[in-house]
Amino acid sequence: MNENLVEIKDLKKHFNINKQSTLKAIDGISFSIKKGETLGLVGESGCGKSTVGRTITQIYEPTSGEVIFDQKPVHSKESKAERKQKKQDMQMIFQDPYSSLNPRMTVMEIISEGLLIHSSELSVAEREKKVNELLELVGLNKKHAQRYPHEFSGGQRQRIGIARALAVEPKFIVADEPIAALDVSIQAQIVNLLKKLQQEKGLTYLFIAHDLSMVKYISDRIAVMYLGKIVELTDSEELYEKPLHPYSEALLSAIPLPDPDLERTRKQIVLKGDVPSPIDIPSGCRFRTRCPKAMDVCSKLEPEFKEAEAGHYVACHLHDSTVMARKDATPIHAVKLS
Ligand code: SF4
Repeated sequence: MNENLVEIKDLKKHFNINKQSTLKAIDGISFSIKKGETLGLVGESGCGKSTVGRTITQIYEPTSGEVIFDQKPVHSKESKAERKQKKQDMQMIFQDPYSSLNPRMTVMEIISEGLLIHSSELSVAEREKKVNELLELVGLNKKHAQRYPHEFSGGQRQRIGIARALAVEPKFIVADEPIAALDVSIQAQIVNLLKKLQQEKGLTYLFIAHDLSMVKYISDRIAVMYLGKIVELTDSEELYEKPLHPYSEALLSAIPLPDPDLERTRKQIVLKGDVPSPIDIPSGCRFRTRCPKAMDVCSKLEPEFKEAEAGHYVACHLHDSTVMARKDATPIHAVKLS
């Protein structure tokens, strides 16, 4: 698991709203995902994490920066055949298993769609056999093939979405909040299924989530995103044990604890207000308007995304000794605990 499958270099995706306003959904991010690895990408709604998944998988063209997949740039002027191959290699699983499946198509038709494009040489019988095998693989069976999406539960529909993604034998899957719409008990089943498929098929995942509760169980490393930027990236265990960014600390403090005694004494860091608009990003550190540890310097200087410890990257002045030596590195808020 040492070779990179995906490399993102200073990626930006901006949307022009009108002549005066630009929505900076992704505002300069860099990271890589190794072959066979799962990178968790976590942040509140509207932070740009889904746009990251859609830009990597070519649904959106980036404004600037580079996506390199399997050693080759994705958004270069490539031939039709190369583009088709990359689309096959990179698949998405979507958040809402209710709206992401066409209600007028049978499960057989839904899963066959990718095969018709990418494996057009298959006969009808071969295609049906493959769909039945995929259904078995995701914990369904061939009797389900002739049914329609509305006949299934949320968890079963997500299994159909996974089978559809696997049909074209991808190398890389962007799972965009695949468990957010499911009951907690079903969430664990889907996470376990994704882990099992990863081991069996050597898949690489970008697993997008809006909180840190389930991500730990599937991710090797986790990137925390806030308002278009990655603010922290490290090994999964390290993030849970030793978060460095105040935003990661707040997200971790919000995870409910299974032990009722511990849960009663849990101190949750409550962040003020909502995420600011990506059309009007605060100066300096973009988290400063909600940060319980904000300092005077934070409004003037944007923190660099730096390696604070081996393999542990963070964008916060508190972990930059040069900035902390400045006179204006003085706190302006007290931490609020509830
Ligand atoms: Fe908070 Fe300042 Fe660090 Fe930003 S740079 S996270 S505002 S302490």
